Amino acid sequence: MKEQRIFKKSALTIITAILVLLFMPNLEAGGISPGKAEAATTFPDVTDFKAEIDYLTGLEIIRGYPDGTFRPKTSITRLDAVRMILREMEIEDPVAADPGFSDMNPETQGYALVAKAVEIGFIDGKVLEDGRKVFDPQGKLTRAEMAKILVEAYSLTADDNIKFIDVSSGHWASSHISRLATANITDGFPGGYFKPESSLERQHFAVFMARLLNPSEFQAGPVVIPPPKYPAPSTDTPGYYVDGILVVNKVHDLPSTYNPGIHPLAQTAADEMMADAKAQGVNLSVISAFRSYSYQETLYNNYVERDGQAAADRYSARPGHSEHQTGLAFDFGGTNQSYWLKTSFADTAAGRWLEANASKYGFILRYPEGKESITGYMFEPWHFRYVGSRESAKIKASGKTLEEYLGVRGR
Ligand SMILES: [Zn+2]
Repeated sequence: MKEQRIFKKSALTIITAILVLLFMPNLEAGGISPGKAEAATTFPDVTDFKAEIDYLTGLEIIRGYPDGTFRPKTSITRLDAVRMILREMEIEDPVAADPGFSDMNPETQGYALVAKAVEIGFIDGKVLEDGRKVFDPQGKLTRAEMAKILVEAYSLTADDNIKFIDVSSGHWASSHISRLATANITDGFPGGYFKPESSLERQHFAVFMARLLNPSEFQAGPVVIPPPKYPAPSTDTPGYYVDGILVVNKVHDLPSTYNPGIHPLAQTAADEMMADAKAQGVNLSVISAFRSYSYQETLYNNYVERDGQAAADRYSARPGHSEHQTGLAFDFGGTNQSYWLKTSFADTAAGRWLEANASKYGFILRYPEGKESITGYMFEPWHFRYVGSRESAKIKASGKTLEEYLGVRGR
């Protein structure tokens, strides 16, 4: 849009262009691209990433705005990203078949560029909920989209399966993001994050392109993913796993011989959580943690005798189906025992503190309110399951039960 080149060479045109720039500096149509000699002239508004931006300017991939600025901190649009890649490919006036986007026609700015990019195969647009296929040329490019178009445009195939903390293996761009990192074009954000849904500034897109085109000069550092504060338990124990998480519920059980005791990682996390809670004036205690198969058998049979099987099944697990047999589940209570194992615990200081903070220690509230039809259990504000702090943060952020998060049946 604002980076078009004026090719006309007549003196009149040049004079006209200069007059236009003098008197209408914000006019959108056309800029004057620097000649080769001035190609590396830095834009006055560029303060960071000068080397990368100068490099791309020298290649005429970056041409800036008619007013001579680059606007480095403006979010890059999807169309401008396509434009830069096509310039790098030295495709200036493309001709290609209609890409079939309902938001672009031959009159739309950038139409020919987008059509060409579809033909080359590095973009394919988006499908809206109503089924319409659009390109959204003026939309902000997200970092996930950036990964996809760069990986596709430059055929980056090497993949070390690099996993950023905030990119799940099911993310539509997870393979592209991993390949971009494998090529040392991105090292993400400190702490091992990639922020796939964030937009990126024009200067940052320039940095990615410079790294891609001149890796010896501009290569990114290695991706550093720190270990989680509370690690996930190993997947070597018996049971049914999805995405590395052990699932024990009314559908999936444990062998009667599996008798591990409290898992040491879960014990450490629980101890540190209770110590932190206490420092904040909240006293927590453990009502129940590991329960063996035979103990659960006795417990369940007693409940059935007392309340009948249908009632018992709402709050007690059949032997082999209790999460407590994993050694990863804890029932917590507060100082007032009259709230123990009751839904009213949710409204006590201890219950509220756990709901807000347990995920920081690797625990998830396993049987949330209103989810009995999914988990198979009534609301249990006291029952927490250790999964590791990386997973617990994701599950809590998702607002889903473990069954919904992993896509498994609970009953
Ligand atoms: Zn429990």
